[in-house]
Amino acid sequence: MSNQYDVIVVGGSVSGAPTAAWLARKGFKVLVVEKASFPRDANSTHFIWPRGMSYLNRLGVADKILEQTPHFKQMEINIEGIRLHGGVPSQAIRDRFIALHGDDHGVVDYYAGPRRFFLDEVLLTEARASGADVRESTRVVSLIEENDGVVGIKAIAGNGEEFEARARVVIGADGRMSQFANHVKAQKTEVREKSTFAYYGYFSGIDKPELCIHKRGRFGTAIFPTMQDRHLVLVYGPTEWWGDFSKDPEAGFFRTYEFVAPDVAKLLKQATRVEPFKAMGRMVAFHRENWGKGWALVGDACSFKDQWTAMGITHALRDAELLSAHLEKYLNGEKDWASVMSEYSDIRLADYEDYWNLVCDGAEMQPYTREELEFFHSIEGDQEKVDQFIGQVGDTISLKHQIQPESQDNRELPDFIKQFDSLALDYHRNAFAD
Ligand SMILES: Cc1cc2nc3c(=O)[nH]c(=O)nc-3n(C[C@H](O)[C@H](O)[C@H](O)COP(=O)(O)OP(=O)(O)OC[C@H]3O[C@@H](n4cnc5c(N)ncnc54)[C@H](O)[C@@H]3O)c2cc1C
Repeated sequence: MSNQYDVIVVGGSVSGAPTAAWLARKGFKVLVVEKASFPRDANSTHFIWPRGMSYLNRLGVADKILEQTPHFKQMEINIEGIRLHGGVPSQAIRDRFIALHGDDHGVVDYYAGPRRFFLDEVLLTEARASGADVRESTRVVSLIEENDGVVGIKAIAGNGEEFEARARVVIGADGRMSQFANHVKAQKTEVREKSTFAYYGYFSGIDKPELCIHKRGRFGTAIFPTMQDRHLVLVYGPTEWWGDFSKDPEAGFFRTYEFVAPDVAKLLKQATRVEPFKAMGRMVAFHRENWGKGWALVGDACSFKDQWTAMGITHALRDAELLSAHLEKYLNGEKDWASVMSEYSDIRLADYEDYWNLVCDGAEMQPYTREELEFFHSIEGDQEKVDQFIGQVGDTISLKHQIQPESQDNRELPDFIKQFDSLALDYHRNAFAD
């Protein structure tokens, strides 16, 4: 087979595989080079918001995911005991797709949490079925450059054989530690050092449908059903406490649950942990330049952000659809490279400029303020506003949309909100320090 392609994609995970699938379906000759052999797991929780499930449905793989993964529309976000229960409004998801992609084909309003060993394999299989030449266990070791542009890759296959392949466009989809980005010297345009730490495990024997996120003080927890009748159970906190937390992380995990979500802690006592815990102590967020002559980046390779809003997979799937639609115009000769790519870059950035700040600010894990609690308390019983808030956390409703709090005139504030300023002082003490 000739080693000349229209597009080469380096990395075959949640950004690379769908990019390859979309492009192959448009009739382009696509090579995907993935160093791992699938199925393989990833150190990532795997909650997918309705917007992300919509991308999977547009690609035609959502039904396959749902065969093995439960899905729901409603969720609970519990902030200092204020219970916000609802779901991302369906119309808002449609509006977002129409604004970004020009149509709302395949949009769905449910979420799911498929395991990465399953999701990633479904996506790579779809790339193959769409006509891409997929090579697993094959590692890209360098890029071929000519006339100041990228024109191909050098790779080593699993059997040790070295080979070269060339293409009109080479895409880096190789994740947050991207060697591709280093090779092309893609500059980081923004960096946010402060992040959460994440510690999570899989439990069986829990009867709790729906995602439930709790936030108290400087900690957060999340629990949701995934495949094989298991629940993913996560705690997160400020990265500066990770050193102390990690001295005895298992004890820290249960202590955190007792503090943040005692109801869930009770369920965990009767449940069985079925896999070793996984951890990530630090997640520095960044944006990078995402294109140059002959190359482009998608997914975490061009921007990575903290896990706490669980948005990386959705954004990877968004990038795949957006980039492939733009590349089509270039590969067909409709538009020149620079105009296609600057448009991709601008649209992508505009799509989550505000959201990036929400994630990075929230990743500092400061306690909520009394004013914020008053706001949450004011919307607690108003389904439309709760749904709008959830739609904002799920990067569907713009953060520019102001959710108007109800007047507090007729509502007595609970004591814990009235006393919150003094209560919150204690929240700054690291509970895991000696
Ligand atoms: C602790 C944690 C929890 C998270 N939880 C969530 C969540 O609940 N929901 C969510 O939406 N997002 C979550 N994320 C983010 C999500 O995991 C990422 O945004 C997503 O995996 C990015 O996909 P990607 O394809 O860009 O990169 P990756 O998934 O990192 O894939 C990169 C691929 O490139 C391959 N590769 C690398 N180098 C080479 C090479 N030289 N040659 C060939 N192949 C190569 C790798 O093997 C890999 O398959 C979480 C992240 C972390 C760290």
